[in-house]
Amino acid sequence: MKRLRGRTWFVLLFTLLLLAGTLVLVWQYFTQGREWASFSANSHLFTKGRIATGAITDRNGVLLYDGPSGDYAEDKTTRTATLHAVGDQYGNIATGAKLLFKQYMAAYNPVTGTGSEGNTVALTIDAELNAAALRALDGRNGTVAVYNYNTGEILCMVSAPTFDPYDSQQVLEAVNAGDTRYNGVYLNHFFSAAFTPGSTFKLVTTAAALDKLNSAADFSFTCTGSLELEGGTITCPSVHGAQDLSDALANSCNCAFAQLAVELGGETLLRYTKDAGLLDSVEMNGIFSAKGSFTPSSNPSELGWSGVGQYTNLVNPCSELVFLGCIAGEGSAKTPTLLKSVTTSLGLPGAFLSTGDSSIAYKPSTCRMLKQMMRRNVTDHYGQEQFGTLPVCAKSGTAEVGPDVSPHAWFVGFVDDPAHPYAFVVLVENGGWGSSVAGSVAAEVLTQLCRED
Ligand SMILES: [Zn+2]
Repeated sequence: MKRLRGRTWFVLLFTLLLLAGTLVLVWQYFTQGREWASFSANSHLFTKGRIATGAITDRNGVLLYDGPSGDYAEDKTTRTATLHAVGDQYGNIATGAKLLFKQYMAAYNPVTGTGSEGNTVALTIDAELNAAALRALDGRNGTVAVYNYNTGEILCMVSAPTFDPYDSQQVLEAVNAGDTRYNGVYLNHFFSAAFTPGSTFKLVTTAAALDKLNSAADFSFTCTGSLELEGGTITCPSVHGAQDLSDALANSCNCAFAQLAVELGGETLLRYTKDAGLLDSVEMNGIFSAKGSFTPSSNPSELGWSGVGQYTNLVNPCSELVFLGCIAGEGSAKTPTLLKSVTTSLGLPGAFLSTGDSSIAYKPSTCRMLKQMMRRNVTDHYGQEQFGTLPVCAKSGTAEVGPDVSPHAWFVGFVDDPAHPYAFVVLVENGGWGSSVAGSVAAEVLTQLCRED
């Protein structure tokens, strides 16, 4: 009898273990089945590693990639401008939708498995806007990105150098042969690289100064064109004279910002850089952007240059875009996303999508003051006429990146208008003067975008 009872317990325990295992498997089947099915060795969905089902379109239904045929967009400029959003033929671009969203392209559901007809994945980008941005870059390297800070949708994401995906084989051979025209061609410069921010970083120094001062008018500084600090000299391209904080930002006065950096101290600037989200990765559709960096030097001239956005400062354009969206949103904005919708062959929703919130640890009042100052930059310095009636708030940057090369040109900001809630980042690598070079690219892209609205 005793032995029988022992066996009963054993059988009961065994049954419970089996049941628990089955539950875990069923749970995993429903939560991870989509990933299992889109494993690249699944020959139902992949041909030689290339996803052979489903399609990718832009937000307006323009075909960017067709899985079964392997065809890309009809128009060459569109193909080239959307390369880093879609992906090349060999999967060398890690941020491309062909890799990011393969589990959505494969029409998987837990009941019927993978269907023969895939899903259509619509990206948030506008193919025409991407093409306009690539044309505005005019053969130069860099990145142009625009996103809706209220919805998180990325409308424009161009990275250059780029190429026509139909030339993937020739480009691969050129890259392997060390052709410098293709340096960093597989890297999405918007998402996976970090650059010297130059004067765009003055927004961070300004925020720290505003919190210390309470008002832009509480600061005064007379620029003589250079500032002697222990360890070196800070220079301005011209003599800016007497200024308050708002003037100093509009003039982009290096001497004033170096003086502020020394007064604020390295640890304070480091905290404001971190609070701006510029040292962290942005998670977009499951992948992580490159991180920025800031070194709080104890050498006053190095610290001065870092307050100006030089020295060892680095910023990732996607983190910068979110930072700008959060200034516009007075502390928070939506996290960027590239995925607009997934539609099955029957026209039904193939996935339920949402994007998260991003925030910065700046006070709403600080954001409002930054906004006013960035608006004044445009009206008093960069020129409102290039933006039509759009209330653009911006900061330019001309980032020195070496003794024998042209500086990187930056122009970053947002439209402060509920009807056009767009933040933008333009970086023209080795492009020259920020406000004129990158500013005109931003003006072209924003004008095209808001004409469509
Ligand atoms: Zn100055």
